[in-house]
Amino acid sequence: MATRSETTASTWNTPGLRARAREVHDRLCEAYGCPVPFFSEKDPLSELVSALLSHRTRNRDSHRAYLDLRARFPTWEAVRDAPTGEIQDCVSPCTWPEQKAPRIQAVLRAISARLGSLNLDALADLPPTEARAWLESIPGVGPKTSAAVLLFSRLRVAALPVDSHHHRVASRLGLLPPGVAVGPSHAILADQLPPDWSAQQVYDNHEVLMIHGQRCCLHARPRCERCPVLDLCPTGRNRVWEGEPRTP
Ligand code: SF4
Repeated sequence: MATRSETTASTWNTPGLRARAREVHDRLCEAYGCPVPFFSEKDPLSELVSALLSHRTRNRDSHRAYLDLRARFPTWEAVRDAPTGEIQDCVSPCTWPEQKAPRIQAVLRAISARLGSLNLDALADLPPTEARAWLESIPGVGPKTSAAVLLFSRLRVAALPVDSHHHRVASRLGLLPPGVAVGPSHAILADQLPPDWSAQQVYDNHEVLMIHGQRCCLHARPRCERCPVLDLCPTGRNRVWEGEPRTP
């Protein structure tokens, strides 16, 4: 049975919209430079912990918390079994350490219970949709985290994560239906990409849309006048060409 997000993707993504998504990708790749080097060689379990730490936290702070965890505990088993207060101390550079510490331990316990060990390398043997479904069946793991584990880790599976910058840019470009939240936007945006794209191409897509949101399509004051995809963007056209300074 199709999920609600799959139904939305199949009804929303017309050939014209897919062509626009592809043109946006090509122009932003030209603007920011592709291929974008992968930033991580973590194993998938380490990437999962890293992704859980990064939720609504600056990269610098979540990276510091991750390094603190790794320095203080020799294994993920030790993190799982430690007093929660010790984990909370380590992850204090992140937002909501009091929530993240027990959540990380609960996720590690859930994986141990299902697999009998703490190792996610076997996800490489599953089709990507099954690997994502398996990860998302763990309480506390959503579509952004499952995609990050598969794409950013050394598994290098073609799965598209959508962060808040990526989501904002795609929304303003009209690539998403109005009001669609980050979670369900994953299926819609992934469905716009060619199915035979490599992990590198999917990674490039995520990275250039995110970078565009950080450098040009800013949250408060998008710099539409200098935007390389202005002619493709209904929001930008309204702001620049019709003199209506509004953002969704
Ligand atoms: S034209 Fe403006 S709103 Fe549209 S993507 Fe570019 S910066 Fe963002």
